[in-house]
Amino acid sequence: HAKSKGKNHFEFFSDEMTKKLDTQTKMENRLLKAIKDDEFIIHFQPEINLKTNEVFALEVLTRWNKDNNELLMPEDFISNLDNTNNIIEFEKLILKKACLQLKQWHNNKIYEGIISVNISGKHLEHGNLYNSIKHTLKISNLDAKYLELEFSESDVMKISTKTLFTLNNLSLLGIGLSIDNFGKGFSSFNYLRECSISKLKIDKSYIDSLIQEDSDEDIVKSIIDLGINMGLSVIAEGIEVPIQDEIIKKNSCTKVQGYFYAKPMNTIEFEDWYKSFKQLKY
Ligand code: C2E
Ligand code: MG
Ligand code: MG
Repeated sequence: HAKSKGKNHFEFFSDEMTKKLDTQTKMENRLLKAIKDDEFIIHFQPEINLKTNEVFALEVLTRWNKDNNELLMPEDFISNLDNTNNIIEFEKLILKKACLQLKQWHNNKIYEGIISVNISGKHLEHGNLYNSIKHTLKISNLDAKYLELEFSESDVMKISTKTLFTLNNLSLLGIGLSIDNFGKGFSSFNYLRECSISKLKIDKSYIDSLIQEDSDEDIVKSIIDLGINMGLSVIAEGIEVPIQDEIIKKNSCTKVQGYFYAKPMNTIEFEDWYKSFKQLKY
């Protein structure tokens, strides 16, 4: 009896695993269809320069309009895409949508700045990112200087020499390169010198800490100083309350992104928001 119980137990476990794999595979296929059928909607979150009162970039953040009845957030689909090389096709689609939208805004003189697009380590390391970018710029007829790419610090930390070469070539094209979630990876700072980076985005966890008792203000200050001393643009991500804003301004960082200023918005919402923003002074 004990033996058969043990056996059942084993089978139960393996059933669970099979089920999980099954769900993953189903989701993979569903996402492939979503790429093919263009079910993704891009949102835009302003990055604001408080000194000049300008939107100096829009970060592109993707939502999935699944079955036309719910808008799924990246946490519900990015990791599945990232488990396979499907993330590369996905990112090519997003790049194309984003650049076409930006070109349209430029043409209509609605928003004439830059966009910043998140790119995975997979695309950087295993996709042909340089070709993806060249192709996107060509079909959207967009000047390279209006496109910026964001890489997570953890991805940039482990890049190969070949990838370093790709990054430098992208930079030579005029593409801006940004390190996302900076400070989270506890990395060596070596790559900052080698990768032609132009912008640091201080990880939200540090900005969160500014309203807590054991604040990381000293670390935030050091990151800001490091960035400024290296001639980089430094931005604080995830500003939600005025006090965070005051602290980073006190420490000479005047670039912000966060719900306190604006949430990610779809095309129409952004156009409305931007009209009133231009009349407003912070
Ligand atoms: P991320 O690139 O670090 O983007 C910032 C995230 O923080 C966004 O979440 C944004 O909505 C959120 N955020 C901004 N300000 C605030 C704030 O004041 N408070 C709070 N609580 N959150 C704030 P979102 O849109 O859910 O995206 C999550 C992550 O998914 C992104 O982190 C990025 O890594 C990834 N992601 C989103 N879109 C894409 C995409 O098109 N391609 C790729 N590869 N990754 C994407
Ligand atoms: Mg980002
Ligand atoms: Mg980030």
